[in-house]
Order: sequence, then C-alpha cells, then structure tokens
Amino acid sequence: MSRIFSGIQPSGELHIGNYLGAVKNWVRLQHEYEAIFCIVDYHAITGVYDPIVLRERRRDMAIGLLASGIDPNVCSLFAQSAVPEHTELAWFFNTITPLGELERQTQFKEKSAKQESINAGLLNYPVLQAADILLYRADLVPVGEDQIQHLELSRVIARRWNLMFGHKTGRIAEDGSEEREPYFPEPQALLTPTRRIMGLDGQAKMSKSMGNTIALLESPESIWAKLRPAVTDPKRIRKTDPGTPEVCNIYHLHKAFSPPATVEHVATQCSTAGWGCIDCKKVLAESMETELVPIRRRAKELADKPEAIDDALAAGGAHCRAMARETIDQVRERMGF
Ligand code: SF4
Repeated sequence: MSRIFSGIQPSGELHIGNYLGAVKNWVRLQHEYEAIFCIVDYHAITGVYDPIVLRERRRDMAIGLLASGIDPNVCSLFAQSAVPEHTELAWFFNTITPLGELERQTQFKEKSAKQESINAGLLNYPVLQAADILLYRADLVPVGEDQIQHLELSRVIARRWNLMFGHKTGRIAEDGSEEREPYFPEPQALLTPTRRIMGLDGQAKMSKSMGNTIALLESPESIWAKLRPAVTDPKRIRKTDPGTPEVCNIYHLHKAFSPPATVEHVATQCSTAGWGCIDCKKVLAESMETELVPIRRRAKELADKPEAIDDALAAGGAHCRAMARETIDQVRERMGF
C-alpha cells in the first residue's frame, strides 16, 4: 500500500478553507493509503509567536482534525515536535541544498517581502518540509497547487541525496558515473480535488491572516453574520439582475456543502434572477449546518476529554518516531556518522 504524508500548521482552529481544501480529503485518503498526518508545529515558529498560544493551537488543531473524521485507529496523527528526527534530517538536507534554490521559492519571496527582518527558518522552511516527507519515505503527498513548487524541491533533494549517498550498484550509468541505488523515493503530488477556497471577501484565498475565514466550529449565528454580507457576483447589483454562478464564491461553497440537486437549483435561480443572494445564502447556511453540526458535537466531546487527544497524539508520535528512527539510522550510516 502506498504511503502518503501531509502536514498542517497549528494556526489555531481549523477554518472551512483548511477543511474543504485539505482535511476533508485526508478523511477519505486515510482509508485508501497508509496515511501519516502531522501537525507541523516546528513550521509554525518562523514568525513571532507566543509559546503558550502555540500549545493551545496544537491542541485546537488536533481537536479540529479528530472532529472532522481523522481516525487515529486508521492513520497516524502526531505533532512534528514529538519526532525530533525531522530537524535532524532537515540539517542533513540543508548541507546539500543550494541557497539559490531556496531563494527562488515563491512562498519565500512573498513572505520575506512582507517582513523587515527575515530569519533563516523562513528560508529553510521547504528543506524541513522535504525532511517531513522523506523521513517516512512517503510515495505521495496530498497538496494544493500552491504547494507544488515545494514538493518539487523535495524531489530534487531526494534525487541529489540518492546520487551522493545511495549505495553503489556496481553498474555504470549512461553519463559514465557510478550508478547508485535510490534510498529515498521521489514523492509525487496527489492533487487535492477541491479548488482553492476563497475568503468571504471573494478576493484572496481563505486565510486566517486575511481575516476572511469561517471557523469550522463557529456557531450558526456567527456563520450567518459572516455569510450575509459576503461578496457575491459583483455584477449582480439588483435582485432582478441575472447572475453568473461560476464567478461567485457562494456558489463554490454550495458545490462543497450542498447536494448536487441543490447546486443545480442554485445555478438556475441565480442565472435567471429567480431569487436574491440572501435567499441563496440562507440555503447555503442550511447545507453547512447539516455537515458542521456533527463535527461541532464531536469537537465538544473531545474538548471535554483532553487526555484522549494527548493519548492519540502520543500513540501517533511513538509509531512515527520508530519509522523515523529507521530512516535516520540509514542516513547517518550512509553519510559517515
Ligand atoms: S444568487 Fe447565489 S450564486 Fe448567484 S450571485 Fe447571488 S449568492 Fe452568488
């Protein structure tokens, strides 16, 4: 069975962008692959942060994932910091990664442009990401399109490491060099089927830093207070103006939460000016409730039993640490330690 690895930052409570764009897909994938899901808390400290808040956010993220249907009896769920081999492997990979490749990463360029002081952790972030994936020799990584460049770097690092430290086969390659047996697989992308979830402003990807999110565990009243003024088709000014569903974020949320017949009804009503945007949003709020009520209930049960969350993370951490240890032993031996 192929192995998949994916990580999520403990940025606090999950929002519906994370849920639809990643976690809902993970819930399905955990039954199809040997799945490893990691709360990447080492990745969460490349900016200014509060250690107490980080602990709370790690716990909140675990609650959100478990409540969404991640089942620790079926997959491995753990916190990155429980397996220090992640940083050990990242150090080894740092020594074979050219600086220029890290400086070319789009996410580094975007994030560093917004900061006055840039720490080395931000630059080396994709090397740690490569270590996260390769530590478990994962074959596949569920990613959104914005993560493809980092995954490509993971493949480059795996290839380079294999060429330098893979066991010699005794054969000569086409280019005249000595052939090496690859130790690390070059991980492939498993593209997330859901398109990018836009924020309620309809302008940018849903993200906590943009303040345009709906939290997964938010109350129905609070969700409605956000949905009501949310941006729709900008050309639909009056109720009598026919709309274009495809350009409207509310329509895409319907596609994620509403049954197919409702989605079809929404498209017809919108394009024929059969209803107003508030009517449309009310139906969306109902569809969201159908999906979110059980998640909220499970989250409440979990929050009342924090020891169960800690136990689940500890079991996942112990299992993954044993796998990580095997990889690190091989890497150390081949790199001369
Ligand atoms: S009717 Fe619905 S899909 Fe059409 S513009 Fe309004 S909110 Fe968007």
